[in-house]
Amino acid sequence: MSDAEARSIGPSRGPTAAGEAGPRVEVLSARDVPLGGPRAMTVRRTLPQRARTLIGAWCFADHYGPDDVAETGGMDVAPHPHIGLQTVSWLFSGEIEHRDSLGIHAFVRPGELNLMTGGNGIAHSEVSTPATTVLHGVQLWVALPGEHRHTARAFHHHVPRPVALDGGEVRVFLGSLAGDTSPVPTFTPLLGAEVTLQPRASVTLAVDERFEHGLLVDQGEVRLAGTPLGRSDLGYLGPGQATLSITNTTDGAARMILLGGPPFDEQIVMWWNFVGRAHDEIVRAREEWQHASDRFGEVMGYDGDRLPAPALPGVAIRPRRNPAPPNPERHAMATPAAPVVRRVEDKHRYEILVDGVLAGFTEYLDRDEQRVFYHTEIGDAFAGQGLASRLVRQALTDVRDAGKRIVPVCPYVAGFLEKHDGFADITDPVTPDVRHWLREALH
Ligand code: MN
Repeated sequence: MSDAEARSIGPSRGPTAAGEAGPRVEVLSARDVPLGGPRAMTVRRTLPQRARTLIGAWCFADHYGPDDVAETGGMDVAPHPHIGLQTVSWLFSGEIEHRDSLGIHAFVRPGELNLMTGGNGIAHSEVSTPATTVLHGVQLWVALPGEHRHTARAFHHHVPRPVALDGGEVRVFLGSLAGDTSPVPTFTPLLGAEVTLQPRASVTLAVDERFEHGLLVDQGEVRLAGTPLGRSDLGYLGPGQATLSITNTTDGAARMILLGGPPFDEQIVMWWNFVGRAHDEIVRAREEWQHASDRFGEVMGYDGDRLPAPALPGVAIRPRRNPAPPNPERHAMATPAAPVVRRVEDKHRYEILVDGVLAGFTEYLDRDEQRVFYHTEIGDAFAGQGLASRLVRQALTDVRDAGKRIVPVCPYVAGFLEKHDGFADITDPVTPDVRHWLREALH
C-alpha cells in the first residue's frame, strides 16, 4: 500500500492507562485516513501516531474493511517505491494481486503471509482482483535495522498452520508463538500472528519478555491484561511481560493481530513510502523515483501509470522519537509558540503553521457566495494537538467575516460543525448538486 503525503484527521482518544492493577496497557486509537486517488478506500491507522512510532520494528499499521468493493471500488495502488522497510500484507477477506520490480507476481489471500523486502529500493503495485467482493485486512510495515536497510529486494510467502488453543486459534506469520514458528526470516526479532477467540473465551499466551507487544483488534471487543480494546484499537504493552492474557468479552468471535519485537532503538525518518535515517536520504530517494532510476526497478504488467511522489514538505523531515514523552510536564515544556492560521488565496486553502512550519491545511473552492470545504489534513508529526479544530474554527470565522456561507463537504469540517455552535446560520447543506459541481471543479 502507498502512504499519503499527509494524513487526514480522525478523532483520537489518545493513549490511556489501565485503571486497575497489573501491567499498564496503552490504548492507541486509530485515525481514519482516506488513501486518496480515485479510490474511496479509507483505512484506520494506529501506527505511527504521536504517542508511538514503533512497536519492535513494526512502524506502520493500517486496518481496513470489511469494505464492500462495489461501493468503495476496492484497492488499486499504482506502482510506487519503498526503501528501508518490509511490507506485510495480511487479509481476512478478498484477494489482492501483487506485482513488484523483483519480478514477483503473487496473489495475497486470507490467512497467507506476503512479505516484501524493500531494502535499498523496490517498486510494487497492489490491486484487488475482480473476484473480490469484500476487502478486509491489514497492511503492516517493518523498519529495517541500519545494518540491513540497504539489503536486496526479496519476497516471502508463507501459509501458517492454524494452531488450536483452549478457546481460540493462532496463525503465526512471523516469529514464534504457541509452539509454532514461522520459517520466514526477519532482520530483527519479530512476532506477527493472527489470534481468534471463541465467544467469551480467555487465553494466556506465553511471550518473549524482551519484546514489547501490540494487539490490534479486527473484530469484537477484548480485554488485554484487563484493559478493554474495541475494533481497530491497538493495545500496547511494554517489555517485561512473560504472558499476555486476552479475553473476548462478546458473544461473537473476536479476531486480532498480535505484533511484537524488542524495542527498536534507532530513530527513523518516515515520509511517504520511505523509511530512512535523515532528510537528505528521503529527498534523494524521491528524486530517484521521479527520474525512474534503476534503484527501484520496473513493475511489469500493471495497467496504468506509476504513482508520482507527492511534493516534499517545505521543511526538513524530522526523525520520529519513540515513545513520546510519557509525562505531561515534559510535554508542556516542549510546547511551541501559538499556531498561526492564514488563508492562502492562490492555493484555495487555509494553512496552520506551528513555529513557522506548515502543519496542515483545509482546502476549499468558492461557488458564488458559498465556500465549499472539501478536504482537511494535518501532518502526521502534528497529529493529536488539536490543530485541526483550531484551523477549522479560524477558517470558518474568516468565512463569516468575508460575508460568505459554509458548505461542509469535508467530513472533518462537517463533524466540527456538528459539535460546535456558532456557524449554523451561515452553513448550507451538502446537496447532490454541490457534490456534482465540486467533482467537476476538481477534475
Ligand atoms: Mn506499498
